[in-house]
Amino acid sequence: MERIKCLIIGSGPAGYTAAIYAARADLKPVVYTGMEPGGQLTTTTEVDNFPGYPKGVDGPSMMVELQQQAERFGTEVRIGHVTEVNLSKEVGGIHTVVVDSTTTIEAETIIISTGASAKYLGLPSEQRLRGGGVSACAVCDGFFYKGQEVAIVGAGDTAAEEATYLANICTKVTMLVRRDVMRASKAMQHRVNNTENIEVLYNTEVDEVLGEQVVEGLRMVNNTTQEKTEIPITGLFIAIGHQPNTDIFKGQLDMDDAGYLITEGKSTKTNLPGVFASGDVQDKEYRQAVTAAGTGCMAALDAERYLGSLGAH
Ligand code: NDP
Repeated sequence: MERIKCLIIGSGPAGYTAAIYAARADLKPVVYTGMEPGGQLTTTTEVDNFPGYPKGVDGPSMMVELQQQAERFGTEVRIGHVTEVNLSKEVGGIHTVVVDSTTTIEAETIIISTGASAKYLGLPSEQRLRGGGVSACAVCDGFFYKGQEVAIVGAGDTAAEEATYLANICTKVTMLVRRDVMRASKAMQHRVNNTENIEVLYNTEVDEVLGEQVVEGLRMVNNTTQEKTEIPITGLFIAIGHQPNTDIFKGQLDMDDAGYLITEGKSTKTNLPGVFASGDVQDKEYRQAVTAAGTGCMAALDAERYLGSLGAH
């Protein structure tokens, strides 16, 4: 059976940064890309907030460059989806991983960078207009709606934070809250309520996103009166939470209530020796490409130190 010194699961900024560092440390990393090679950034158009790109870069190109950088130092990138893991609890133990339900391999260390997926409402009009004005990331895409009117769905801390972020850029932000209260912390609610150009509509849900190629408006429904109203907008932001991609680790790794992997202190160590987590799979708060890349670096350093402590490297 093939044995890998450093197996990296996931190919977003966290996975590829881990690969760059692991390859340079001679850990001969193998990256399994997962079902969305390149991760969430491949669904974004322009990335303007990653340091080092003064003119911006489009998400897919950036991920190709990150892959090339990892390969330059000897990373092996394989198209494949890890479908099952059997993680050892022993220090120095060997972990077993099944790829595409068929191939079993062994790994001395594993870096999990499987990311998280934004939740969407699931309406056909919303899905059709993703990339045409429907976005799940205000910090990534808000700038494209500078001086325009937008709406945001959600009532948690993310929605509240993104609403105030958008209010600085856009002329008006309509916030749709499905209940008669917001889930967000009181401090965040206070900020929303004190921002003049945010209008909060309670008991309100999306009925349909209007527009053929791009978003032109929103039809909303009040879920107590069933009354429908329309507003003109050019951008719709969905901020109803993320789902970390951790199903295959359930019962083996410690997770919080929402399924995010728990890491120890400032490190990327999970509760099992030799298994590390980096990127959005262990971060529900920052979720930026640059923070994911930072923790990818940390995971590779943690893996190297772990192998070093065993005398295996
Ligand atoms: P949350 O799960 O906290 O909130 C999701 C929100 O979306 C809820 O208000 C929920 O409504 C609403 N929602 C869910 N599904 C739908 C739907 N189908 N239609 C309409 N609304 C819907 O997710 P967040 O991303 O906001 O936050 C995740 C975690 O990260 C939280 O623990 C949060 O505190 C933390 N966080 C902290 C920040 C900070 O401290 N600066 C910043 C960002 C996040 P309902 O309330 O009715 O269930």
